[in-house]
Amino acid sequence: MRFLAAFVAIFGVACAASAQDKIPLLIIDGQNNHNWKATTPILKDVLNRSGRFSVDVATTPSKEDKAIQKFRPDLKKYAVVVLNYNGETWGKELQNDFETLVGEGKLGVVVVHAANNAFGNWNEYNQMIGMGWRGNKGGDRLYVDDSGKEVRVPNGQGDGSGHRYTGEFSVTLRDAQHPVVKGMPTEWLHAKDELYDNMRGPIKDIHLIGTAYSKGTKVHEPMIWTVAFGKGRVFHTPMGHDVVAMKCLGFASVLERGSEWAATGKVSIPVPAEFPTATAVKSSR
Ligand code: ZN
Repeated sequence: MRFLAAFVAIFGVACAASAQDKIPLLIIDGQNNHNWKATTPILKDVLNRSGRFSVDVATTPSKEDKAIQKFRPDLKKYAVVVLNYNGETWGKELQNDFETLVGEGKLGVVVVHAANNAFGNWNEYNQMIGMGWRGNKGGDRLYVDDSGKEVRVPNGQGDGSGHRYTGEFSVTLRDAQHPVVKGMPTEWLHAKDELYDNMRGPIKDIHLIGTAYSKGTKVHEPMIWTVAFGKGRVFHTPMGHDVVAMKCLGFASVLERGSEWAATGKVSIPVPAEFPTATAVKSSR
């Protein structure tokens, strides 16, 4: 009996410790020109399966409710927010909560796909995301040329954002040593997705981790990057148009590892063995 008691005690403590170790993560959705009702469960599933997060979802009122001002989840409870949201601008109080907590390094941010279309008139948000889906006067553009050099196109010159290519595309790592992508092949094939191009923004304090060559623009478009906002960490990928794109095991790994990095600055979630290769897409069912 004594052995059993000791076992229960140790096992109980271990369980409590692992529960405490989980990173509190909040997905925000509720308005989007994409099917958030279908994609949030995929995001949630991926994050839960990693075992590293306790995941909550906060859904805003719909536009018809005319109640966005009342939406104010308690962000202090979380270490990281994943934005699956592209809709009305939040109320001033929530904007302030968000800016303060992120700037103080208490809340990490993960921006997925159309979340970078949101909040065009919110300067701090534009800084946080680095660049997003904007008209050609929405800031500078960044691309990588064939020699691997980063090229900046000034605000107002060239095209506004688009997805001039949709389909499977290769992701090329530009900093293979960054904790989020370390251990991934330097080139891997992503499932069918919209390949965002000509993204625009202040592009301040950003670190480019991965690009994808667009057959639409004939240059390498930013596909994975981080932004330093004050003391805060922002992780951004414009991948993830729909369920097909999100079921790519490459996207899933980028999402879970990017979320852990945004929350803690470190990554412990392993790269899955069945990761995509340079020539083969790998997806979960
Ligand atoms: Zn899309």
